[in-house]
Amino acid sequence: MTMDRRDFLGGMVAAGGLLALGSDRLFAAVAPGAPAGTLLNWDDAGTGAYAMVDRSTGGNTLVLISDGHALVIDTKSPLHGAAIRGDTEVLGGSASVTLLNTHHHGDHTGGNASFADVPSYAHTNAKPRIEAQLERYRRGGASADGSGTPLENLAPMVRRASSAWTAGLFTPEHLIGDEGTELTIGKRRVEISHFGAGHTDNDLVAMIPSLNLMHTGDLVFSGLHSFYDPNGGYSARGWIESLEQTLALCDSETVVIPGHGEVGDRSIIQAEIRYHSKLIEAVQAEIDKGTSKENAQEMSWAFMEGLEFESIRARAIGAVYDELSGG
Ligand SMILES: [Zn+2]
Repeated sequence: MTMDRRDFLGGMVAAGGLLALGSDRLFAAVAPGAPAGTLLNWDDAGTGAYAMVDRSTGGNTLVLISDGHALVIDTKSPLHGAAIRGDTEVLGGSASVTLLNTHHHGDHTGGNASFADVPSYAHTNAKPRIEAQLERYRRGGASADGSGTPLENLAPMVRRASSAWTAGLFTPEHLIGDEGTELTIGKRRVEISHFGAGHTDNDLVAMIPSLNLMHTGDLVFSGLHSFYDPNGGYSARGWIESLEQTLALCDSETVVIPGHGEVGDRSIIQAEIRYHSKLIEAVQAEIDKGTSKENAQEMSWAFMEGLEFESIRARAIGAVYDELSGG
């Protein structure tokens, strides 16, 4: 346990502290459809599995409860992380909690400080990337605003805590190599795989075979344009390869939680493969014609019709252009 973690426990945003504030007040406003007593609107994704699927609050979160243990996959923003931690206590009783980050992006790791006192896991390449995002986390914490939402009472505490945050509060302590790993959460085995660079250079896929339930992280954006981060170690070709290996873990009954967008079955993985394949094909054709990157970024093709997150379309084209042209 690092100094950071002890500091955290000394009086920051520990969930025990949240609960001690008075569960009546904190958890009074329950989102419609949510399990009783939770702040966030969880979908019951299967026996003991709860998904928080909401594109406006960052990446999708999965909480798995089994036999006195809880696994939390991804933590959204600083404010949502505090709510997720509190809700995990509600969903899991006194369950011992473990955290897994599917990759380093701030909309999946922003709430990690609320889990700084529990065992936490990420791919080894995520560590320096998470450490480098401290200022982003602090800004997110300092501007936490839950006005008019069930998170309203958490926001002042998160704002106060944020100025003292250190990178160590966000950095998972257990690093997973390229070979992946397996976690045991109560009676559930969780298989964690890394298939090389794709969305980033530290993507992890979590599969729970006994529930036939998967969290793909941002390898899948369902019904949305896909987010290319030029500084995240992406590879469009690697993304397809990672998706094909992810697809191979599924059958027709598998429930697939994407990084963003709605929960689906394996067809959302197949759609993501088509997106990147067609994007590579279309961009390569423009490169072959001598089209500039800037002009290519203005374009759209049939396979993009109807996708949301339009604001990141040009970014995806530009990233693929750079990769294909060696730029
Ligand atoms: Zn991401």
